[in-house]
This record gives sequence, C-alpha cells and structure tokens, in this order.
Amino acid sequence: MLEQAIGFLPSGSTMGDPADAGPLLEMRSAVLREAVAEFTAAFPGVKPFYATKCNPDPGVLRILGEAGCSFEIASTAELRMLTGLLGVPPEDLIFSNPVRARAQTAEAWSAGVRRFAVDSSEELRRTAAVAPGCDVLVRVATAPGDSLVPSEGKFGVGADDAVRLCREAAELGLNVHGLTFHMGSQTLTPEALGRPMDDVRQVITRIAADGLRIELLDIGGGFPARYAERIPPMAEFGRVFALKIKEFPYEVEAVAEPGRCLVASAGTFRCRVIGVASRHGVRWAHTDLGVFNGMMEALESGGELRYPLSDSRGSLATELFNVTGPTCDSQDTFATGVPLSADLREGDEIFVGSAGAYTATYSTRFHGFPLPRVVII
Ligand SMILES: *Cc1c(COP(=O)(O)O)cnc(C)c1O
Repeated sequence: MLEQAIGFLPSGSTMGDPADAGPLLEMRSAVLREAVAEFTAAFPGVKPFYATKCNPDPGVLRILGEAGCSFEIASTAELRMLTGLLGVPPEDLIFSNPVRARAQTAEAWSAGVRRFAVDSSEELRRTAAVAPGCDVLVRVATAPGDSLVPSEGKFGVGADDAVRLCREAAELGLNVHGLTFHMGSQTLTPEALGRPMDDVRQVITRIAADGLRIELLDIGGGFPARYAERIPPMAEFGRVFALKIKEFPYEVEAVAEPGRCLVASAGTFRCRVIGVASRHGVRWAHTDLGVFNGMMEALESGGELRYPLSDSRGSLATELFNVTGPTCDSQDTFATGVPLSADLREGDEIFVGSAGAYTATYSTRFHGFPLPRVVII
C-alpha cells in the first residue's frame, strides 16, 4: 500500500510529503543522443553495444536504441527486457558475461542469442552443451590500469590462454567469432586501450597458424564520463584504437560496449534536504538520497568519483557541507566538503549531476527508504 501511495505522487512534485517520495533521477534524452553521437564520431565504424546494466530504464534503452545502439547483456532478465519491451532482435545482442548459469545460456540460445563471451575451458564445455555451434568471444584480460572505479580483475585470460581457448572452442564445434576485453570503468588514460589491443593482435596472429580467423573485435567499455573533473576527449581514445587496429594482420569488424560514457552526464538526481546539522564545526546536509539508494559508486570509488553538486536555494554565500543519506549508516555519506548555499535548509533540493550511470539501478531499500524514480525529460 505504501508503494502504491508513493507511485501516486506526481514526478518532481513538491506536494504531499516530499521526504517520502524519495529521490528523482531525471534523464535528459537530448544528452543521451549527444553522447551516442560523440562516441560514434570518435570511433567511426565501431558499433556501440550499450552495456544494459549501467542504466536499464526502459525509456533510456529506447532512446539509445533509436540513436543507433545495440545492446550488451549479462543476464536473461536483461534479454527479456530488451526483446519483450523494446523488440530488439536477440541475434543483435552480445551476451558478455563470461560465466553464466547453464539455464541462462540455454534460455538465451533458444531465444535466438548467438554470441557468448567465455574465458575458461569449463565455460566453453558448458556453453557447447546447451548452445551447440554458437558464436564465442574469448575474453582477454586487461592490466589494472588507470580506471577510477575498480571493476576489473575477475574476468579475462592472458594471450597464451586465449590462444588455447580459441583452439578448444573450434574443437568443440563452436564458432571462434571473436575476441573481447574490457578496460576498468572510468578509464582516464587513452593509452590504456592500446595494451589490450596489442594482446589481441598477438592472439589473432597466433591462431592464424591454426587456420582460425576472427570476425569480430569487441573492445568493451570503460570509457570515461565527465563528473566534477575534466576527462580526456573521447576522440583521444578513438585515435589510440584507430592506430592499433591498423597493425592487425587483416581487417576485423569492431564493436564496443560503452555504458557509463553514454548515460552518466544525461542524469541529474533531484533530492530533498531532510535536515541540516552542525557537528564539531562541520556542516551536514542530510538528504533522501544516499549511498544505499543511488550513490553506491561514491563509496565504491572511495570518494574518487566526484559528482557535481548544487542546490535549489542558489545563494551567493556558500559554506562547505558533507552530504549524507537518510540511513543511520555512517557509510551513507556521498560527498564531503562541497560548497552549497550557506542558508541551505529543510525542504531545499540538492542537484547531483552526472548521475545517470550505476545509480538508480544500483540501489537498495536499506532501512526502508524509497528507491529512486527515473523520468525521461
Ligand atoms: C560493465 C561492462 C561494460 C560497461 O562498462 P562502462 O565502464 O560502464 O563503460 C562493458 N562491458 C562489460 C563486459 C561490462 O561488464
């Protein structure tokens, strides 16, 4: 009943009890389209397969699809959403989770998904058992480089193992469709793209001796979005890629799996100040948005990911605030020492910019506080 009551509050309304409505994530469709345009301009001919997990709001997915993206999935729930809600053809998707429950591979295969990532002999055999003859992409490891959000280290194998897995895939009757890698998320140095490209070239050259020729290179995601600090232009990543792919022994179709860089800057959280407090000379703004219902990455990145903040009062006189969520957990603080209106008070709004990636989808109902609502504007 409570859920229902919340659902009846008009989006962005200041009526009723605003503290009960929870945070609102506004996604600007024009900015989503611009981000796709910027990416495709930097990577001509490289089709973006948007990483669905990053922001799976149906409205966001629809806009990205219309703007020319296909989709990368990691679960059958994502598959069903894309095919059911948006009518995306399953054969256009890439299932890039390298270890899947057998039932997930089987469901995706029977639904029409052709392409699956793998990074172990075990998964190759499991995949061959339920998706015989499918297309596989062998996942190559990337060195922990200059990514701001720690996300790599779990998947991917070195060049020697990748060569072996390509041979094994062929022996199992699978199609050695391609190679894939993923730099860590929010990678800030374009050179970080060059190293896995060199590894992939090595694998391609070595498997050619076995008569194996790949059709697809999938360069993954990890491209940076603009938060409070400057980032290198996307075109610099594109230049590194263009230089490296020229060294390949033959021409290969390339695709990418951008997530964050397509959706982060389109999103702004509007959250409500539920109270201000001063403790030991430090000013605190308590809001209905916190680490557990949207700002998890502030915690995950150890505060390195700095979201641009402003407030609805907009006073010229500012003071430094710590901004914290509604729970009793001290980990709930998502910004420290940020300038906000000195006379900030209960009921004011705080705007959190660059909030479109890994926020609403990455939230919990810890302590009973509401999940964010997402609207497209
Ligand atoms: C999460 C993920 C992405 C997207 O990463 P971003 O840093 O958001 O660009 C792409 N590919 C794979 C395999 C992923 O796991």
